[in-house]
Amino acid sequence: MPKTKDQRPKTRIGYGFDSHEFRPGIPLKIGGITLPHDKGLGGHSDGDVLLHAITDALLGAIAAPDIGTLFPPSDQKWKGADSVIFLREALKRVWDAGYGVANIDASLILAAPKIGPHTAAIRTRVAELMGLRGDYVGLKAKTPEGLNLDNAAIAHVVVLLEKGAAGRRTSRRPKAAMRKR
Ligand code: MG
Repeated sequence: MPKTKDQRPKTRIGYGFDSHEFRPGIPLKIGGITLPHDKGLGGHSDGDVLLHAITDALLGAIAAPDIGTLFPPSDQKWKGADSVIFLREALKRVWDAGYGVANIDASLILAAPKIGPHTAAIRTRVAELMGLRGDYVGLKAKTPEGLNLDNAAIAHVVVLLEKGAAGRRTSRRPKAAMRKR
């Protein structure tokens, strides 16, 4: 029987957005690491706004159900959950669909704390969680100038998927880096 031509597109793009409110007395988790601050992000899980936006970007790229559908806040199971669980499920779905992550780019918007001193650590952790090299993870931090949103943290993320670039294989990255991009 002749092989059916793979009709899937070579690349797919995904976009994710999330916001959480600051609350006193809870740990601040952003990008899978805990940052020193007197307030954290409220939410049913650990409130990791960046990992939630990345998760939704990955799910969106393959038109899968979103984070709130897969992990409903009404389910006690996800109370205080480590958001790495959500990210891993989204990555698994991406890989199962026959795609790998080419790169991601994120904007974080929050008044405090200053993200600059933690950017490298966040990028490293996100890259590690996604099986990417750090230089395939873009991260910009902005303050919410003129938005009157000083008590919230917001994340916007875009992700590019490539067909056949199977996940988990970080060894693919050095090779890819040699290619002209
Ligand atoms: Mg969220």
